[in-house]
Amino acid sequence: MGAIKGFMEFPRETPSPRPVADRLNDQKEVYQPFTDEQFRQQGARCMDCGVPFCQSESGCPLGNLIPEWNDMVFRDRWKDALDLLLKTNNFPEFTGRICPAPCEGACVLGITEPPVTIMNIEQAVSEKGFEMGWIQPNPPKKRTGKKVAVVGSGPAGLAAADQLNSVGHSVTVFEKDDRIGGLLMYGIPHFKLEKEVVKRRLKVMEGDGVEFKTNAHVGQNVSIDDLRKEYDALILCGGSQKPRDLTVEGRDLEGIHFAMEFLPQQNKRNEGDTIPEDVAISAKGKNVLIIGGGDTGSDCLGTSLRQGAKNVYQFELLPEPPKGRASSNPWPQWPMIYRVSSSHEEAEKEVRDFCVSTKKFSGENGHVKKVHAQKIQFGEKDPKTGRPKMEPVPSSDFELDVDLVLLAMGFVHPIHEGMLEQLGIKLDGRGNVWSDECKSTDIEGIFTAGDMTRGQSLVVWAIAEGREAARSVDEYLMGSTLLPHSQFLKT
Ligand SMILES: Cc1cc2nc3c(=O)[nH]c(=O)nc-3n(C[C@H](O)[C@H](O)[C@H](O)COP(=O)(O)OP(=O)(O)OC[C@H]3O[C@@H](n4cnc5c(N)ncnc54)[C@H](O)[C@@H]3O)c2cc1C
Repeated sequence: MGAIKGFMEFPRETPSPRPVADRLNDQKEVYQPFTDEQFRQQGARCMDCGVPFCQSESGCPLGNLIPEWNDMVFRDRWKDALDLLLKTNNFPEFTGRICPAPCEGACVLGITEPPVTIMNIEQAVSEKGFEMGWIQPNPPKKRTGKKVAVVGSGPAGLAAADQLNSVGHSVTVFEKDDRIGGLLMYGIPHFKLEKEVVKRRLKVMEGDGVEFKTNAHVGQNVSIDDLRKEYDALILCGGSQKPRDLTVEGRDLEGIHFAMEFLPQQNKRNEGDTIPEDVAISAKGKNVLIIGGGDTGSDCLGTSLRQGAKNVYQFELLPEPPKGRASSNPWPQWPMIYRVSSSHEEAEKEVRDFCVSTKKFSGENGHVKKVHAQKIQFGEKDPKTGRPKMEPVPSSDFELDVDLVLLAMGFVHPIHEGMLEQLGIKLDGRGNVWSDECKSTDIEGIFTAGDMTRGQSLVVWAIAEGREAARSVDEYLMGSTLLPHSQFLKT
């Protein structure tokens, strides 16, 4: 697809980031737009590879028809590209900005050359849709008379609501926070996803007829029993909100917070809210330690730098990944390689320290002052777990002065207290809500999608899960459905 020899003619190009000095002074998105011509050239690089692994199960969980819309962009058929993209993805303006793009890791061109810039093209197609006024509310012509309640307004809940509304069901989304969007609104920083982009989509959905209720905490101020009586089906999309903790000495000192206590505060400030002083967490002028080397950790880094941290350190337990694919991680798998996020680019030097185990915190007057850590190494594989054994490196203990510690070590499972306990719903072995392949729980008429059932994952998977749950709900309510399956959900 694209131009026959486009991949030989044009090198891979991606939109350039704004200068670091500028972006550290604001919260706006990092990357500058491309011209249409640049996108046409990048679309032209998509070759006629025969088997497009980008849209296979190792590529896009939504099964996006990538080669086809790359070709349409190359041929200036933007509206056709948008129509095709929206067939498989409700919110390409989100995934086009923040997806880690497993499709690019699986791109056939990527075997020998830099892959096609699929994610940027996806963003461009969706932006063109808004710019040209092609994305408008389009409420269903007829209502079915069936009512569906969606609990949780992250990408899974929004995708489910969008799909179900499109076939005429009346959908209400209940959200415990004061704004709709889940982690898209409160978690992912503005510099990765400006919130106008989220609000713009919510406006379209409202125009389509989806009803949103904020400050509606199901299991607390909204009764789950009432919802079950009032609605014909429920979809639970409450995310994976129980953070992994670090149970070491000194953990209870002041100044040690979960990442998700810190990040949403900045999102709120950016939206014009004032955070009361007694709960406000700020990195300004502080020595900040981030524990956890993943995406959440890197979001904490970018946010700390924008707040004016004095120093930032980041610990990761695992070893530094290789610069290129290891032989155990071949194409088309997601490349487990060393990456430099836009936030890491913003730090003056590499802040990450790999193979570090945090031993304890010590403090003064109840506030954290030091972290005590040790380097570790990975030895032979443990025959019982199959994982390499972790051993301390002799005499490698060290200390750092820190006044703010942010724990970004992932999430273990959804919150059990409240709604889930009141329902007595079945959980899987990891504490997530159990579901069958149709996203049905063990309680009739109650379905689930996203991180709440899958465990912490990605926006693209949440959308895929929400779409699948919507399909099952439609079938449950009407006896049959024309909504499409999400292709690769079981993987
Ligand atoms: C800091 C951070 C950065 C991330 N960055 C990326 C990224 O760049 N790219 C990417 O692909 N993924 C990223 N992720 C992961 C991604 O955001 C999640 O996988 C995705 O948002 C999950 O969607 P969801 O709809 O299942 O849940 P969520 O987005 O977590 O939404 C769940 C919603 O349910 C609400 N809720 C829970 N219980 C109730 C209840 N009882 N009543 C009412 N409401 C309730 C919550 O308040 C929340 O708003 C990131 C995650 C974090 C934490």
